Amino acid sequence: LAAGVPASKRAKPLRGEDDPELERPVVALRGIGDKAAERLARIGITRIRDLLWHVPARYRDFSRILRIAELEEGDEATVIARVWQVSGRSLGGKRHRLSVTLNDGSGSLQLSFFNQPYLAARLTPGTEVLCSGRVEIRAGRPSMTAPEWEGLDRSPVQTARLLPIYPLTEGIKQAWLRRQILHAVERWSDAVGEPLSAELRRTEALLSRPEALRGLHAPRDADHLAEAQRRLAFDELLLLQLWSRRRRMARDARSGVDLSAGRQALADFVAALPFPLTEAEPGNAAVPEAGGQREALDEIARDLARARPMSRLLQGDVGCGKTAVAGAAIAMCIGAGHQAALMAPTEILAEQHFQSLGRMFEALGFERFDPALAEAPSALDAPRPPRLARLVGSMSRRAKDATAAALAAGRIDLVVGTHAVIQERVAFAALGLAVVDEQHRFGVMQRAELHFKGLAGAEVEPHQLVMTATPIPRTLALAISADLDQTIIRAMPPGRKPVRTLWLKPEERGRAEAFIRKRVEAGHQAFVVYPLVEASDSVDAPAAVDAHARLAAEVFPDLEVGLLHGRMRPAEKEAIMRRFQAGGIQVLVATSVIEVGVDVPNASVMLIEGAERFGLAQLHQFRGRVGRGEAQSVCLLLSGTRGRRASARLEKLAESNDGLELAELDLEQRGPGDFFGVQQSGLVDRFRFARLAPSRAMSQARRAAERILNDDPGLRSPELAPLARMVEAFSRAAERA
Ligand code: ADP
Ligand code: MG
Repeated sequence: LAAGVPASKRAKPLRGEDDPELERPVVALRGIGDKAAERLARIGITRIRDLLWHVPARYRDFSRILRIAELEEGDEATVIARVWQVSGRSLGGKRHRLSVTLNDGSGSLQLSFFNQPYLAARLTPGTEVLCSGRVEIRAGRPSMTAPEWEGLDRSPVQTARLLPIYPLTEGIKQAWLRRQILHAVERWSDAVGEPLSAELRRTEALLSRPEALRGLHAPRDADHLAEAQRRLAFDELLLLQLWSRRRRMARDARSGVDLSAGRQALADFVAALPFPLTEAEPGNAAVPEAGGQREALDEIARDLARARPMSRLLQGDVGCGKTAVAGAAIAMCIGAGHQAALMAPTEILAEQHFQSLGRMFEALGFERFDPALAEAPSALDAPRPPRLARLVGSMSRRAKDATAAALAAGRIDLVVGTHAVIQERVAFAALGLAVVDEQHRFGVMQRAELHFKGLAGAEVEPHQLVMTATPIPRTLALAISADLDQTIIRAMPPGRKPVRTLWLKPEERGRAEAFIRKRVEAGHQAFVVYPLVEASDSVDAPAAVDAHARLAAEVFPDLEVGLLHGRMRPAEKEAIMRRFQAGGIQVLVATSVIEVGVDVPNASVMLIEGAERFGLAQLHQFRGRVGRGEAQSVCLLLSGTRGRRASARLEKLAESNDGLELAELDLEQRGPGDFFGVQQSGLVDRFRFARLAPSRAMSQARRAAERILNDDPGLRSPELAPLARMVEAFSRAAERA
């Protein structure tokens, strides 16, 4: 950031709605020099706008002003008092301690400041101050260590309020940044544009955007803050809604493939399954849109019979039988003379699907495509049985080329493989249906549509079915993606034994490990799940790498103990999962990467360390990795939490096996953050407030988007111009994500 360049020359084009003043670099501000500007740039603050949108990480509540005599241990409080006595003392080296006694007539309060000897010059006896901090009672006397304080001569910035705590970087002090931001907010919050009409703000009872900004940085009280956050979450959710609704409108205007000619093939496929499809249980009116495989398939078949591209999310807990439903849809597609593709995120998953679909389709006379056998040109036009093929990265170049060529020539009807390979290599002759097995977080699914670009040829678009075992509560699904329809399978095939879940205290770890040993000795396998990859200074949570070392060396020295985490390369992860699948690893220590659904029926026990750190939906997801075989599976949650909420969550998990119910509870308690996904994506980064949004904000945003687009589907009216520009910017970020 070069100083001295006139602000007008440095200003970037308007970002939608705001006053160009906000584009001025922060060095232009009094009190921010080159050095400070350089440091601020490290945390993304280069312009005035960035100061305004530097969102507090949390708040400390110093709004209670108490008399010193009233202070109790653990209080976060503010006192107004006079400096009574000051004494400094060297602690050796450069270390120094300043002791200050305050008195407000009701009693005295002892303050300690470390390594700030210069404060003595400002905290002179007689000075009247506001002082905020956490109270400790030592030898019967109240004290505070390194409290926030300021003189009474101007209105309080650092004390006596709900105090924002900002993310910092080296060389930037909290109190200094707070002052800069507050100053910027006082001066420029009104320069932040207001994309919503006054009428909309009134009907939805929303603060103005400038007022929300003030509420964020200088909340009068907790309500003001909550209202500010609700408004800002609303904006994000509204953009998301407008964007996804417009995508939907665009898609509805495009043509798809009418696959109704394949209905008989679908019926034949279902008839050939070794089991009847599950059906909705009568009387389960609580979730009207949820049923069994039968209802899901009906819904999907209706979509496939329309000349409009389907985009549907099929959710259902692990083991509910989504593969058979996808298979039936694929049968319909192929029966209608089109090709189908099923894509999985990893090679192992792709192979798993290839095997299980292979069995289902071979029962119907399909053959497996053999890339090594070149077909005689004379055979190309001859009638042939339908074919399925596999397409994954580890195949030889020649086999991949031969498979891709056969797909392009229409000589393969179903391909099962990894996203990467299929997208990179294949031009289909006539793709009618693409199925994506995500089993993953929502952020990924949201972008699924992008994967299909270019797969279908120019004229028509294939139908899309995304399968996931991550239950997404309806309110959230509607808020996030107006462009995906949802089908939920709630019924489970008969005879499944739900995983037994127990919550243990850390001192019971020995018991848990003994249990794992017993299971392994009986020929089973185990997962041990950790919240972190490696131990960290900033987060107090157990870590997989350390635990792996300990378990392998001390607890199970005689067993094969494997390690799997997200920092490993995909090929390494696959190799480990393969070994586990083949039984070469008995105890697999893993982080949340095991969420991606590999089927290892022999794994019958899972131990989850630091369980309170995970969301309910995620814990349930982990737990779905066991309970896939004959044995009664067990999930042990290890957690020493004493928090009331965390305890209630773990108890709920031990009690319920219903993924959707757990997800709804999670949403209510933790907000939608967990559902937006752990994947890095530009889209997710944009949800700074919606992560914490109450479900009210979600339904409001949906309602508002509907109304806005009803009146003006193209967002063309001049009043909507600022909003339209924001949606435009959002789309660009989302498409890049
Ligand atoms: P998921 O929904 O987790 O993908 P799968 O499709 O892998 O579940 O099915 C899990 C298991 O349940 C498979 O072994 C499958 O053959 C079996 N299955 C699926 N549907 C039924 C059914 N209606 N009755 C009995 N078993 C079923
Ligand atoms: Mg599956």
